[in-house]
Parts: sequence; structure tokens; C-alpha cells
Amino acid sequence: MKNIMFIAPPAAGKGTQAELVVEKYHIPHISTGDILREISKEDSEIGEYVRETLASGQLVKDEITYQLVEDRLGKEDCKNGYIIDGFPRNLEQAYKYDEILERLGYEVGNVIYINIEKKVLEKRITGRRLCENCGAIYNINDPKNTPKEESVCDECGGKLYQRSDDNLESFQTRYQTYEEKTAPIIEHYRKQNVLKEVNGDDTVENIFKQIEDIIK
Ligand code: AMP
Repeated sequence: MKNIMFIAPPAAGKGTQAELVVEKYHIPHISTGDILREISKEDSEIGEYVRETLASGQLVKDEITYQLVEDRLGKEDCKNGYIIDGFPRNLEQAYKYDEILERLGYEVGNVIYINIEKKVLEKRITGRRLCENCGAIYNINDPKNTPKEESVCDECGGKLYQRSDDNLESFQTRYQTYEEKTAPIIEHYRKQNVLKEVNGDDTVENIFKQIEDIIK
């Protein structure tokens, strides 16, 4: 199976879509955001740096991400395809990713761009909740995606929490960072003829259908 990369503004639902792809196609999901959130729990200098950077909505230093991406993609389970989400986040990282792919003998695969307007995202951002146990994602502002019981995961009964960067202030910074730093990589992949666009202003199911049409 071809590798998959997701490019999307913050809160566009790429985590949810990645989960659906994993469930159906059984390929690993490499999310730099998830890896960094794990590192942010560490009681160390780097843990503290990552914790503060994540909460501020800025990007962590490029060098930190390169090593963790290359190490993770080099693992056996990535050899038959993987989803990368959250990396690359800027043009430097995109160039570096091209080098990493070459070293590992991989191809970039399908680059899926979830296109969605900022005002739709602002409505979503404050409602997002995650299960601390299984990672399931809900949105209390979306009637189709609210948990049956407040703060309790439908899947496993785990407790739901709100990500520390899911507030409007941090969202504005993340969105601005996305526009300035990440949006230029869309052109990088358009030029390579690997960019596939999906409409993100739709239900989770319909977005997934569009994604399936691409990866099938
Ligand atoms: P995400 O879960 O992809 O929205 O990422 C959450 C946060 O992790 C971002 O706001 C950044 O602070 C950090 N992050 C994730 N991926 C990267 C990356 N490739 N480069 C730098 N920072 C990143």
C-alpha cells in the first residue's frame, strides 16, 4: 500500500481520519503531535521545552522532529505503508523528509490535503474531547459526534479530556503558524503531482469516503 501523508489546518479532523484509515487498512499512524505529547510528559529539560511549546501553539524545533521521524519510520511495521500526520510542517521539513524517504527507500505516496475554512474550524475547536484511555475523539459542539454520557468515552468508558492547546487563543496562533509555515508545502507536493484534495467541511463519514477513493 502507498504511504499516506495528511496536510490539514489545526482541528480539521486529520487525527480522526487517520484513525479510520488505521482501522480499515491496518497500517501504522505516525503522528508527530502524539509523539511530542508523550515527550511533553517527561520530567526532563526536553520534556519541559516541548510542554511549553505545545501549549503556546508554536512549532517545536525542527531538529527534534527529524530524529524522531526517521527513527520511527525506520521500524519494521512501516515497511508496508504508513500514515504520517503532522510532519512535514514547513518547507525545511518537507525537504528533509524527501531526504529521509530516499535514505529509507520509500516513496512519499498520496499526500492528502484536507481543505476547510478557518471559521468552520473555530466553531469546532472548543468542542473537541479525547479519551485519555483509547484516544477516541469526540466533539461536544457536533450533535453527531457527542459522547452518550458527558466526559465518558462510548468505546471504552475512559475519561474524556480537552487538549491543552484546544482553546481559541492557542488556535489562532496555531492557525497563523499553519498559514505561514505549513500551507507552502501544499505547493511543494502539488508540483510533485502527488497532492490529492478533499473537502473537510463534511461529516466524518463523507470525508473518509473521499479519502478511501484516493487510497483504494
Ligand atoms: P498536532 O497534533 O499535529 O496538531 O500537533 C500539536 C503540536 O505539536 C503542534 O502545535 C506543534 O507544537 C507540535 N508539532 C507537531 N508536529 C510538529 C512538527 N512536524 N514540527 C514542529 N512541531 C510539531
